[in-house]
Amino acid sequence: MIIKNKKDEILNYLEDTSNIKGSSSILYLPQSREEILEAVKECVSRKVSFTVSAGRTGTTGGCVCFQGAIISVENLTNILNIDKDKKNIELESGVLLENLEKEANKYNLSLRAVPTESLACIGGAISTGASGVRGFGYGSIRSYVMEIEVCLTTGDIIRIKRGEIKADKRNFNFENNGKKFKFELPTYNIPKVKSQAGYFIKDDMDLIDLFIGSEGTLGIILSCKISLQKSPVNIFDGLVFFKKENNALNFINEIKNLKRNHLLFPSSLEFMDRYSLDMLKPEYSFIPQAEAVVYFEQEVEGKNDYGGLIDKWQKLIEVNGASIDESIIADTPREREKIFEFRHKLPQMINEFLRQNNQIKASTDIAVPWKNFEQMYFFYKEQAKQSGLNYVNFGHIGESHLHFNFLAENDQESLKAKVYMQTICRKAVSLGGTVSAEHGIGKLKKPYLKIMYKEEDIKSMANLKKIFDPNCLLGLDNVFEKELLL
Ligand SMILES: Cc1cc2nc3c(=O)[nH]c(=O)nc-3n(C[C@H](O)[C@H](O)[C@H](O)COP(=O)(O)OP(=O)(O)OC[C@H]3O[C@@H](n4cnc5c(N)ncnc54)[C@H](O)[C@@H]3O)c2cc1C
Repeated sequence: MIIKNKKDEILNYLEDTSNIKGSSSILYLPQSREEILEAVKECVSRKVSFTVSAGRTGTTGGCVCFQGAIISVENLTNILNIDKDKKNIELESGVLLENLEKEANKYNLSLRAVPTESLACIGGAISTGASGVRGFGYGSIRSYVMEIEVCLTTGDIIRIKRGEIKADKRNFNFENNGKKFKFELPTYNIPKVKSQAGYFIKDDMDLIDLFIGSEGTLGIILSCKISLQKSPVNIFDGLVFFKKENNALNFINEIKNLKRNHLLFPSSLEFMDRYSLDMLKPEYSFIPQAEAVVYFEQEVEGKNDYGGLIDKWQKLIEVNGASIDESIIADTPREREKIFEFRHKLPQMINEFLRQNNQIKASTDIAVPWKNFEQMYFFYKEQAKQSGLNYVNFGHIGESHLHFNFLAENDQESLKAKVYMQTICRKAVSLGGTVSAEHGIGKLKKPYLKIMYKEEDIKSMANLKKIFDPNCLLGLDNVFEKELLL
């Protein structure tokens, strides 16, 4: 097994896109699932805590190690099987999402719920319960995870198949490889929005759902089986620039009021505000004067529907006060790629801005019920104005889920942003929302989880972790304070 312990060899593993900096003096780079087990056994026998690292594209510091060792799954890159008839793929957890998609595409299949960042690994995506630009049409990755193979810190390997191990209300009682597991789940209820804040808990839940989104705190995912979808026959994407922000919000409302089986129904419905456009302008000269842009992706099944659907979108665009001439409809793979790149460029530019200014990310991952979305949206604007800080607001508006980012240029501004983030999260929770819809809590968002759940609920998460990690060595400082494990 490859083991690194020189400072400069480990440096890159001590951060993700949150800009939090970690500390560790040993990095394990196992080349196989057997070597992962070996690394785990070594850490456990030496009582060294360890953090799982994958693509390191996370935004909350989940893979950033504060103490002990790092075990990276990045070399577990084998695609084990693809069943084109049953439409599923089995793969090791270090496979990059872009490689998963390339492989699936060979068989005219696709993981439509794939997160936006293609350099994330499938194990990282499962562990953060990720979703992506197609969240509106396909939800999060959770629904597509059929099976996982997990290595626990006890050295046990458990294989969990969806549908096989279910709770009776909040009680689990099952056996794995002769070992009995009997425990009660916490009593809290998760909000009725897309949420990735703390462990997923529900009456009669499937065990697999506890591990999905557990942010490297319960076990190391070694491999998984994911269900795929047929690639759409045709797709076109649109970028609709609105001179007035209100028109953009009305456009969104109109689309969200459509029935899911309506012919015109986007798989993706995304938004950027005027400050996002200002940030992108130096790179994209085609951006007109606008207060907002809406990005959508429309899948088309029959060839006959194609022209008709483009007409329908154009009518909807015009009725809502945007100009067809200033809108872009992309219907070739190259043009679609360019539009996707445009959408993806913004979070990349924000991360780069923070890196250059050496500031930690101050960004929301809030989703609220749709009926309260506009209230939340205007609250963001009010708070931003009060703070006097620069910001951008963008994201998955289809799911009432935006990433509001303060753009702090120095430590003083970062401190101020932190205070405002608390107020914003409190508002989201009061509106029935979540403080994290897709990125997880990691290390960065623990103060916000405390706004969402009572102290005893967070303590019950720590107790639940101990069922699978009795040595309390794995992913310490993620989701809740390690002191709760004492
Ligand atoms: C430009 C940009 C855009 C992004 N857009 C999106 C988006 O649209 N939607 C979205 O959901 N996210 C998005 N992200 C965030 C990020 O890509 C996701 O959180 C992703 O799922 C992280 O995967 P990773 O492989 O990079 O994991 P890492 O960052 O390495 O780790 C993330 C967490 O998972 C744990 N972990 C990783 N692998 C395993 C494993 N095998 N077993 C157990 N635990 C494990 C780690 O310990 C850590 O807690 C974006 C990031 C960037 C930089």
